[in-house]
Amino acid sequence: MNKKTYSIIGDFHTHTMVSQHAYSTTQELVEASRRQGFQAIAITNHGPEMMDGAIAHHFLCMDGLPEVIDGIRLYKGAEVNIKNFAGRIDLPVSILRNLDFTIASFHVEAIDPGTIEENTAAWLAVIQNRYVDCLGHAGNPIYPFHHEQVVKELHKHGKILEINANSFIVRKGSEKNCALLIELCKHYQVPIVVNSDAHSAWSVGEVTPAMELLESLDYPPEMILNHTLEGISGFIQRRKQEKRMDFFTGPAQSPQLSTI
Ligand SMILES: [Zn+2]
Ligand SMILES: [Zn+2]
Repeated sequence: MNKKTYSIIGDFHTHTMVSQHAYSTTQELVEASRRQGFQAIAITNHGPEMMDGAIAHHFLCMDGLPEVIDGIRLYKGAEVNIKNFAGRIDLPVSILRNLDFTIASFHVEAIDPGTIEENTAAWLAVIQNRYVDCLGHAGNPIYPFHHEQVVKELHKHGKILEINANSFIVRKGSEKNCALLIELCKHYQVPIVVNSDAHSAWSVGEVTPAMELLESLDYPPEMILNHTLEGISGFIQRRKQEKRMDFFTGPAQSPQLSTI
């Protein structure tokens, strides 16, 4: 693998021990990022619907953390749970609009898998939610959906797809779906973010299988947003402006989608 071309500058899906099934502190994740030679990290703990997810107040108060710790740019995020097939998620707009990076994911703790039609409807609604930036581990085969329809919607709304390296280990069958999604993202010019979904400091930046798949499919490295700090920070900056447009345009497009 060409490590220079297919590499990341930071992991944008990580969990701290705010959840009992994760094992490191923010400081330890930052130190791990430094060891990897990274420039940034996003802390994206589980929303409250997960059995040991963070309480809503955790996300509200992240604003008080420094923007840079030991030279690592710290982005404050969340991995929200999709709660139903109308795309309802488990943090309120009042919190989501101030976060840097919000990933929305299906987890069995929060929602039983639906039909292809139901799962597709949920993804489409989540993409239309102004406050969600990225779809998390969408390759999970237990939540099948119409891939092309969803990728086209991502393109339409300027949102992105995650390729989650942890899925290749814990969500068996993800690789085939990820390959199809990567091909579609290439076709529809949808950017990708490549993450480890680290639940401890020892996993930060472990994205090798995902990168190998992207390279084998010739996905343009410049479209991997966390390949450069400029790429991912530019995206986050644009999205933050869009999230705050509700100051001028009134309530969000679909406020019911992101109200607890
Ligand atoms: Zn997840
Ligand atoms: Zn996660």
